[in-house]
Amino acid sequence: MYDAYVLKNYGPAPMALVRGKGSYVWDAENRRYLDFVSGIAVNTVGHSHPEWVARLQAQVGKLGHVSNLYHVPQQAELAHRLCEKAGDGKVFFCNSGAEANEFLIKLARLWGREKSGGEEGKCFKVITAENAFHGRTFGGMGATPQAKIQNGFGPMLEGFLHAEFNNVESFRDKVDDSVCAILLETIQGEGGIHPATTEFLKGIRALCDEHELLLLIDEVQCGIGRTGKFFACEHAGVQADAIGMAKGLGGGFPIGAGWVSEAYAHLFTPGSHGTTYGGNPMACTAALAVLDIMDSENLLESINVNGKWWHEALASLVKKHPDHLTGVRGIGYHVALAVKGDPLPWVGRLRENGLLTVRGGTDGIRLMPPLNITRQDLETSVEILDFVFGTTI
Ligand code: PLP
Repeated sequence: MYDAYVLKNYGPAPMALVRGKGSYVWDAENRRYLDFVSGIAVNTVGHSHPEWVARLQAQVGKLGHVSNLYHVPQQAELAHRLCEKAGDGKVFFCNSGAEANEFLIKLARLWGREKSGGEEGKCFKVITAENAFHGRTFGGMGATPQAKIQNGFGPMLEGFLHAEFNNVESFRDKVDDSVCAILLETIQGEGGIHPATTEFLKGIRALCDEHELLLLIDEVQCGIGRTGKFFACEHAGVQADAIGMAKGLGGGFPIGAGWVSEAYAHLFTPGSHGTTYGGNPMACTAALAVLDIMDSENLLESINVNGKWWHEALASLVKKHPDHLTGVRGIGYHVALAVKGDPLPWVGRLRENGLLTVRGGTDGIRLMPPLNITRQDLETSVEILDFVFGTTI
């Protein structure tokens, strides 16, 4: 039935996952897997976390959806919590990472118009990085300079320029009066887990300040605690003008959000943007449960402690298996093992041995466990990796 009726825009592994508990999932044949995909960096608090489940169950029995024609109290609470983390500002709620980035791109256009004294279409360009990934909408595709994402859908949305990641001068070369913003992932996720350097992010912040450009940070994959800080850009101590988030925010319930600093929040006025589902009571309840669990279980702290051990163990694996492994990239639980040759056969071999991973870029195997994974389960992951990279493909 899957083959007959589901559109063939994905290439799923030949299996169905039917239940999960903590860091484990089970397939339809009752085989167990340690889940280091986490629904592509989504299952922040693992599978079926009792508090997350209970709060969603209680909310769905009370009120599931009402639209943004009315105040949604949970939105106010969640927006407040996100502003405590991102800074003074306002939050827009949507349903996915691509929509969070659409919000950032629309914000950039509004800023460009204001900067040009109200004239539209004069200052509207956004510079993004080579090897970036910002989503599959027309805004997201335009911001994603990769043939495999754009092919077949041309012409692309106009107004995007691209520069070399981790090279401030390359971005500087693209700046002129038509540019209004720079959009960056703090860690390029789909591109293979390539972190922006602190020097680069600081340099880009200074460049934005110099030319009155908005610094838009896409934290859709690396944010929500995955690196051991709530936003990955906190590691560099760099303040964004707006941040896009999604994935881990709902812990498995679809929600996206765009935070914009107070200085630019006036650019959106009633009627200027919106979406039916954005921030509905279910989505906000899920996200509030994620934030509460992150606090009550000290997840950021445990990532920093267990992550240190895990990174050392992964580095030892690289030394032990130099025929197959070339390095480890990433911060906290946003990690890729770099392999020689095609990562895909290794992803399959790891799956056969009970560890779910996902390719990132051309040489990366992404390892993105739930943030509440135990030390013991991290140790299990290292044992499986050690065994699998001791074999040949
Ligand atoms: N931005 C980044 C950095 C992502 O990694 C992704 C998805 O992988 C997106 C945006 C798009 O998010 P979504 O798939 O929820 O639309």
